[in-house]
Amino acid sequence: MADRQDAEKDPKGGWLSELFAPIAGFGVTFREMFRPTVTEQYPEQKVPPQPRFHGRHQLNRYPDGLEKCIGCELCAWACPADAIYVEGADNTEAERYSPGERYGRVYQINYLRCIFCGLCIEACPTRALTMTNDYDLTGRSRSGLIHEKQDLLGPLLEGMVPAPHPMVPGTTERDYYRGTVVQAVSEQRAWVEEHGEQAGGVSAGSARTSAGPAPEGEVAQ
Ligand code: SF4
Ligand code: SF4
Repeated sequence: MADRQDAEKDPKGGWLSELFAPIAGFGVTFREMFRPTVTEQYPEQKVPPQPRFHGRHQLNRYPDGLEKCIGCELCAWACPADAIYVEGADNTEAERYSPGERYGRVYQINYLRCIFCGLCIEACPTRALTMTNDYDLTGRSRSGLIHEKQDLLGPLLEGMVPAPHPMVPGTTERDYYRGTVVQAVSEQRAWVEEHGEQAGGVSAGSARTSAGPAPEGEVAQ
């Protein structure tokens, strides 16, 4: 109690520091006046963010081009902002988008709601969903900020062929999860050449081919 009363009577630093306090505040201002001005010329010059920056999402593919998303909706349930909408559907032998039974037929992320918390990518059981470094998320309309599956799908890299197409012959979805499939094989390429146009699908021609600084393939969270 006595200490508190003493402190109130004699504030730290005494009358001298009280006298110079306003000048010390302006000292920060004066110091900044003589430092170089740093103005980022965005969007003409884009400054790369830190490697683990969480930006636009990406729906990843396996090395043969099949999609990793199985339409389970766990990402949508994990999202605190209700920003994700998923509709799953069954793969068929005539139209297969992912290994296993199901794939994500409809996939939307509403970037007007997303707070980039990353909970959705933590929830994803197949590492289908990750986040890129792309921070250019602007649009001229509200609907333009709802990104559809074709906007979110990762690019087709070397060795991939666009889904739908069959799995690598003799493999199961477990082989895909274990990473034993490393690229599309000739049977898959032949199937796509024969059926590609009839099968169509969002992966075929409309998938995003470049996404600014979006990294290749699967992107670390
Ligand atoms: S980053 Fe967070 S807010 Fe954005 S879609 Fe994922 S869970 Fe939802
Ligand atoms: S992105 Fe992952 S969590 Fe979301 S529906 Fe696809 S597989 Fe499931």
